[in-house]
Amino acid sequence: MHHRYDVIVVGAGGAGLMSALYAAKGGVSVACISKLYPTRSHTGAAQGGIGAALGNIQEDHWEWHMFDTVKGGDYLTDQDAAEVFSKDIIDVVYELEHMGLPFSRTPEGKIAQRKFGGHTRDFGKAAVERSCYAKDRTGHMILQTLYQQNVKEGTLFFNEFHVTDLLIENGRCTGVVAYELSTGELHTFHAKAVILAAGGYGRVFKITSNALTLTGDLMSIYYRKGLPLEDMEFYQFHPTGLAKLGILVTEGIRGEGGILRNSNLERFMERYAPSIKDLAPRDIVARSMTTEIREGRGVGKDKDAIYIDLTHLPREVIEGKLAEITDLARTYLGQDPVKDLVMVQPTAHYAMGGIPTDLNGLCLSDGNGGSIEGLYAAGEQACVSLHGANRLGTNSLGDLVVFGRRAGKYAAEYARQVEFGDLPDDPEADSRQEFERLRTSNGKENAAGIRKDLQETMMKNVGIFRNGKDMAYQVEYIKELKARYANVAVADPSRKYNSELIEALETGFLLDCAEAMASSAVNRTESRGAHDREDFHSRDDVNWLKHTMAYKDLNNPGNVIIGYKPVALKGFTRSFEPKPRVY
Ligand SMILES: Cc1cc2nc3c(=O)[nH]c(=O)nc-3n(C[C@H](O)[C@H](O)[C@H](O)COP(=O)(O)OP(=O)(O)OC[C@H]3O[C@@H](n4cnc5c(N)ncnc54)[C@H](O)[C@@H]3O)c2cc1C
Repeated sequence: MHHRYDVIVVGAGGAGLMSALYAAKGGVSVACISKLYPTRSHTGAAQGGIGAALGNIQEDHWEWHMFDTVKGGDYLTDQDAAEVFSKDIIDVVYELEHMGLPFSRTPEGKIAQRKFGGHTRDFGKAAVERSCYAKDRTGHMILQTLYQQNVKEGTLFFNEFHVTDLLIENGRCTGVVAYELSTGELHTFHAKAVILAAGGYGRVFKITSNALTLTGDLMSIYYRKGLPLEDMEFYQFHPTGLAKLGILVTEGIRGEGGILRNSNLERFMERYAPSIKDLAPRDIVARSMTTEIREGRGVGKDKDAIYIDLTHLPREVIEGKLAEITDLARTYLGQDPVKDLVMVQPTAHYAMGGIPTDLNGLCLSDGNGGSIEGLYAAGEQACVSLHGANRLGTNSLGDLVVFGRRAGKYAAEYARQVEFGDLPDDPEADSRQEFERLRTSNGKENAAGIRKDLQETMMKNVGIFRNGKDMAYQVEYIKELKARYANVAVADPSRKYNSELIEALETGFLLDCAEAMASSAVNRTESRGAHDREDFHSRDDVNWLKHTMAYKDLNNPGNVIIGYKPVALKGFTRSFEPKPRVY
C-alpha cells in the first residue's frame, strides 16, 4: 500500500513527537510512524528531569550549563551544539510549560528544580539546582503533553508500524518502508522529507535500563546503506540500576541526598570525587562503583552490587518525589527505601553516538560536511555531538526537545520548497526479501539464542572497563554471530502480530550496532568519558580529539571502515579547566 505525506517522522518518543509537532506547525502534511503506541515510547520512563538554567532556586546561566555539558562530555562535545542547546532549552522548557506540562513547583509557583550529577554553578564550583521535573515522571509528562499537541495540530499516527527500510535515491531520501504488525503487510511511505527519531539500542547489553524495543533499528538501516555512525564507542552505563534487573533508579535519588555505600557502609564517593561526591558525572560514579566491586567491597549474594542509602531522608521525600522508584524497589527487590538499603548495580543506559547530524538535524553522509538531502534525525538515535564522550543526566530530554524542534522546523521548511522525489521501481523489494528469508528459512539457529550470546559478551568485552584484547575478540565473535544469524529461522511463520519474526529482525539490527560499536571502540586507543581502556589509561588530545565515523564496508562483509570528523571547539578547552575564566 502506498501513502504520501510531505514529512514522515519515524518514532513517537520525545524527539519524534517534538519534531512532528514542529513540522506540522510548519504548514505541511505530517505522519508519524511508530512501532509502539506513542505514549509507550521509552521517553515515558525518564524520571529525573530536564536540565535548563532557569535559575529558579539559585543563580544559574546558560554558559555554566554549556561548560558542564562540554566538561561532562570530556571535551568531545561539539561546542556549537552545546551553545545552541544551553540557550534554546530555557525557551523550550517554558514552551512545554505553556503547552500544559505539569512541572513540580516551588512554594512561590515557579518550576521546581533539583540538583543532578555534573551540573554546577560558576564553572564547576559547586552543584546547582538545574533539573526541572514533574515528580519522578518527567518523561511520561513530556510524552502526554506532546502527543496531545500533535493531535491538536493534525499529525497523523501510524501506530504499530515497524519501519524496515529507508529509501535513498541519488543522495536524497524519498521515503520509508514499514511493516504493519497487525496484518504483516508492507507499506511504502513516499515523503519529501523524513525525520528519524527511533531511540537507542541498549538491548545490545545484558543488564540495561532500556526497554525491550530499543534495538537500534534505524541506526542499523542507515549503516547498512554504507552511511556512517558517529562515536559509537561511547556508551553510558548509569550507576544505579536495580541489582540484577537493570531497571533504572533515577539519579534524582542522589540529587535528593541518596548516598552510595560499599560493604563496609563507607561513603566511598568521598574518595573518588571529594567535592561533588555522589553527584559526580555518571561515568565516574559507575567506574568507582565497579572498582569497589572488583576490589571485594560489593554487596549482595554475588558481591556485585552496591547500596544506595535513603534512610536518612524524610518519608515524604521518598514516597513523594521518588514515588516511582520506591514502588519498583519494593516490588522487585522487596527492599523498602524508607528503612532498607537498596541494592543497585551499573546498567547500560544511553548511546552518545548514532546517526551524525548538523545543528539543524540534517543527516551527514561523511565527516567532511556531506549530507543526505531531505533526511533528518533527532533524539537518542542521532548524534549532533552534544554529549561527546559522556552525557550529563537531564541533557537527553533536553536534546530531544531542542534538536527535535529544530529538525521539525527545518524538515518542514525543506518540504515546502521541493517536489516529491522519485521512488525506486519496487521500494519494498529488500524488506520483502528479508521477511521471506526469515519466514521460510530452514536454518537451525534461533534469534533469541544469538541475541543472548551477543548481550552477554558485549557486557563482558565492551562494557564499563575495556581492553584491546577483549574488544578485538568481540569484533571477531560478532562475525561468528552474524554467520549464525544468516541461518536463523522462525518457528511461527504467521503474519499477524508475529513477535518472533519482529524480534528476529531486531536481532539483526542489534548485530550491526554491536559491530559498529566494538570496531570503533577497539580503534580508539585512549580513555575518554565513558570509553575507559585499561591498556590506554589516559586521554590523548593530541591524537584523539576527533569524532569516529564508522562505515560498513559494503564490499567486504564484516569489515568496518573508520573515518573521522573534527570536534567543533568554541572556547572551552582542557586548559580552561584548572583556572576558570568567564566564557
Ligand atoms: C529508564 C530511563 C530513564 C531515563 N531518564 C532520563 C532523565 O530523567 N532525563 C534525561 O534527560 N534522560 C533520561 N533518559 C534518557 C532519555 O529518556 C532517552 O534518551 C530518550 O527518551 C530517548 O528518546 P527518543 O525520542 O530518542 O526515543 P524513544 O523515546 O526511545 O522512542 C523511540 C521511538 O521510536 C519508535 N521506533 C523505534 N524503532 C522503530 C521502527 N523500526 N519503526 C517504527 N518506529 C520505531 C518507537 O516506537 C518509539 O516511539 C532515560 C532513559 C531511560 C531508559
